[in-house]
Amino acid sequence: MAFYTGAVKNQFGCVPGTQKATWHTRMPDANNFSKMLLDINSLVNTSFAILDGIIAMEGNGPKSVTPKKMDTIIMGQCLTAVDSVAVRLIGYNDVLKIPFLKEAFDAKWGAVLPEDIEVLGEKIESMKCKDFKLSRKGGNFHFINPSVHHFLTSMIAPNPVVIEEKCIGCKRCGEVCPEKPKVISFIKKGNKLIPKWDYSKCIRCFCCQELCPQGAIETKNKTLGKILGS
Ligand code: SF4
Ligand code: SF4
Repeated sequence: MAFYTGAVKNQFGCVPGTQKATWHTRMPDANNFSKMLLDINSLVNTSFAILDGIIAMEGNGPKSVTPKKMDTIIMGQCLTAVDSVAVRLIGYNDVLKIPFLKEAFDAKWGAVLPEDIEVLGEKIESMKCKDFKLSRKGGNFHFINPSVHHFLTSMIAPNPVVIEEKCIGCKRCGEVCPEKPKVISFIKKGNKLIPKWDYSKCIRCFCCQELCPQGAIETKNKTLGKILGS
């Protein structure tokens, strides 16, 4: 949902374990989720961030990622500035395509745009990773009415799907899904249970994908989403 995890989103870890899923349900779209991230950061008032990108993670986190050697450490007192630099290093040239950076920019919450950030040390251009695998290309619909936004998200956002060969039928995905009634049911295939989604109820929080112990859930882009670069 956030496209990228770094200094700002790290503070979502301040929400106690089981409540995280509930908060996903209460803030099912990227805009509200981003506002919540900024609120948490305002409350926690973190004064310094050290982003350890010596080995970064590419792809969909945190369980289904590939380690990526970046040899990079970014530090700063402004968390949005740290993240703005980091997303440029991995290939987001337009930092406002990251929902929480767009929200921060609109709310005048920290420095977001490259021209407002002073970078000491190495030049960003020399540190950029040209083949970083982004989980999503970025893009949001801040200019659209919220009710239409919710409809569009369901039309455009990718669907979680199972990779059957990797699935061991542990049912963890069904347990962590925050939506009630449950979006995921299980069907028997061979000698194991395989998840099956009711996409009309899915809020695309991707908790199921994040917490699958086997990395057996991937996201499948829809045609409209591909066209719009989501
Ligand atoms: S959590 Fe992963 S391995 Fe377990 S049932 Fe769901 S998809 Fe299969
Ligand atoms: S099925 Fe997965 S993506 Fe959909 S609401 Fe449940 S946990 Fe979130």
